[in-house]
Amino acid sequence: MATNIRRPNGTKDVVPEQMYKWETVEEKMKAAAKRFGFKEIRVPTFEDTGLFVRSVGDTTDVVQKEMYSVTASSNDNYTLRPEGTAGVVRAILENGLLNGAMPLKLFYILSCFRHEKPQAGRLREFNQFGCEMAGSPAPEADAEIISLAKYVLDSLGLKNISLHINSIGCKTCRAKYHEKLKEYFEQYRMDLCSTCQERLDKNPMRILDCKSPEDQAIAANAPLITDFLCDDCKTHFEQLQQLLKIIGIDFVVDPKIVRGLDYYTRTVFEFISEDIGSQGTVCGGGRYDGLIQSLGGQPTPALGFGMGLERLILTMENQGCGFMTPETCDVYIAPLGENAVKKAAELAGFLRNGQYSAEYDLMHRSLKSQMKYADKIGASLVMIIGDNELEKGKAELRNMKTGEQTEVSLDESCLSTVDTVLTGEWLSQAMARGGDIL
Ligand code: ATP
Ligand code: MG
Repeated sequence: MATNIRRPNGTKDVVPEQMYKWETVEEKMKAAAKRFGFKEIRVPTFEDTGLFVRSVGDTTDVVQKEMYSVTASSNDNYTLRPEGTAGVVRAILENGLLNGAMPLKLFYILSCFRHEKPQAGRLREFNQFGCEMAGSPAPEADAEIISLAKYVLDSLGLKNISLHINSIGCKTCRAKYHEKLKEYFEQYRMDLCSTCQERLDKNPMRILDCKSPEDQAIAANAPLITDFLCDDCKTHFEQLQQLLKIIGIDFVVDPKIVRGLDYYTRTVFEFISEDIGSQGTVCGGGRYDGLIQSLGGQPTPALGFGMGLERLILTMENQGCGFMTPETCDVYIAPLGENAVKKAAELAGFLRNGQYSAEYDLMHRSLKSQMKYADKIGASLVMIIGDNELEKGKAELRNMKTGEQTEVSLDESCLSTVDTVLTGEWLSQAMARGGDIL
């Protein structure tokens, strides 16, 4: 027997019963972004490999170890996007979006691909919600981006998420810091993991981002970037902290946060959940003032963040957060016999045109198995049509929750009966919730 093909390691299927969780999260994210004036953008799943090497950085784990590069012909050098920012910045430049209203504010929900060791909250294909803003160097822009991320997390009902912020300075302050950091880690060169020994030569700040506990212990006493910031970067960081206090967003300054990607400057931040262990970073972001220019645009300050949808859903599940109730069927029509099926098809059409979801039996089943089906799909109302009903031109509309029955005509007027019954149901549910019908 042929072996069954299984999904690739580190990927996930979202089956229909789980879809409502994704719909909840995606809808809330989109609503939040729009409330802050961000517009949606979509970009290709794969890009020129050079785009990621130049923007994410060739000393990062992502570029060195985690990229899925694809070839269809020998001339191709493409990579499945490991993150969203690089492609979005490319699209900004290619479509001249910086000539429009500034600051430019964009958001997206897209899949990313990284060849990592799969575990809970760490996948090889995962989904990110991201927001990017271009044009403003002001700390207010940093505060706004952080507010938006916080607004999303709050609107999902998440608790126990702390905001860690840091400034990793500009090119000038970082050069001095790199030197000091190199000096420090050089003493422990042989104790570092092999990747970090390489990082020591190429980009010592990356060592602070290493997940190995031994390396983290060594990094614990390393010099801190915050002691090396130039006056401008220091002021920018202080102003951001003041703003966050004014708008009432709690944070901790965490000089160990450096972020995994090379393009960050000044502000970097992470929202960390205490509930999902070592994969606790549900959102990461920061400023990348040099990126647009390095990809061929005019010097333009910019910033943004990315949030992993899988990690958010995992945290929401752990915390018992509410999701939107899954869509069910408004009316299930159970026809018995050939003529009744034709009538059911006609009535389903009336109901759907009236914006209700309606289904009827497509398998010529017995009443008993049709009722089982109606139960499985969670139908709110059921209408049974047999010979008697066909003859009278009327049937009973049964409310599956209360058992109440209402007479309904088997013609276009069934729509207004369904309307009355479902509106009544909706109102009584709202009253049960405490009279909150808005
Ligand atoms: P980590 O330190 O956990 O590896 P990262 O710094 O690589 O995260 P970013 O590149 O900033 O993450 O991506 C932004 C967000 O995307 C992360 O905060 C996380 O929520 C999510 N994310 C990153 N990598 C994965 C992955 N392999 N699987 C699932 N979600 C991920
Ligand atoms: Mg990572």
